[in-house]
Amino acid sequence: MGISRRNFLKGTGLAAGSVALTGKPAKAEVDSPEMRTKGLTTTTTVCPYCAVGCGMIVHTKNGKIVNIEGDPEHPINRGSLCSKGSALFQVANNERRLTKVKYRAAGSDKWEEKSWDWALDRMARLMKETRDRNFVKEEKIAGKSYTVNRNDGMTMIGTAALDNEECYLLGKFARAMGVGYLEHQARI
Ligand code: SF4
Repeated sequence: MGISRRNFLKGTGLAAGSVALTGKPAKAEVDSPEMRTKGLTTTTTVCPYCAVGCGMIVHTKNGKIVNIEGDPEHPINRGSLCSKGSALFQVANNERRLTKVKYRAAGSDKWEEKSWDWALDRMARLMKETRDRNFVKEEKIAGKSYTVNRNDGMTMIGTAALDNEECYLLGKFARAMGVGYLEHQARI
């Protein structure tokens, strides 16, 4: 059955009037944020998606995330989140989320499950090999040799989820590896 504009306004007016007369609270008031998060552990964090860096509050129960929402005290977003940030809960609680290291060897069509120790050793070895293979000790400019100690085979990029201290450490690590191509996601 179609509903005319007149009937719709009449219906909503009646509903509002009945709440005013009975004094019964609306459902939204009963289902308040305080009640939904009562007894849960509260932790603040920063959205990992983009360089805006919105503040978030994460609620956990027995180590499991049960709610994520914007942090009203955060100076950047003051409680608001975009649609992507609002859906972060689904990243943590998702049966399709990978929780173990998967490795597919070159040329293979199969994924193998590996340990973190194996993965970290392999990454460290490949980084060292790449650095050694591409290390430039000296460069000649206008006929004169200069020490540059530069790693031309590698680049590093920081994400929006890094805080100041992590950015500092990543910058130090990159320079220790001789990396000159050091960037941040926000500039791309
Ligand atoms: S909530 Fe949206 S705008 Fe804010 S940091 Fe996350 S992705 Fe960026």
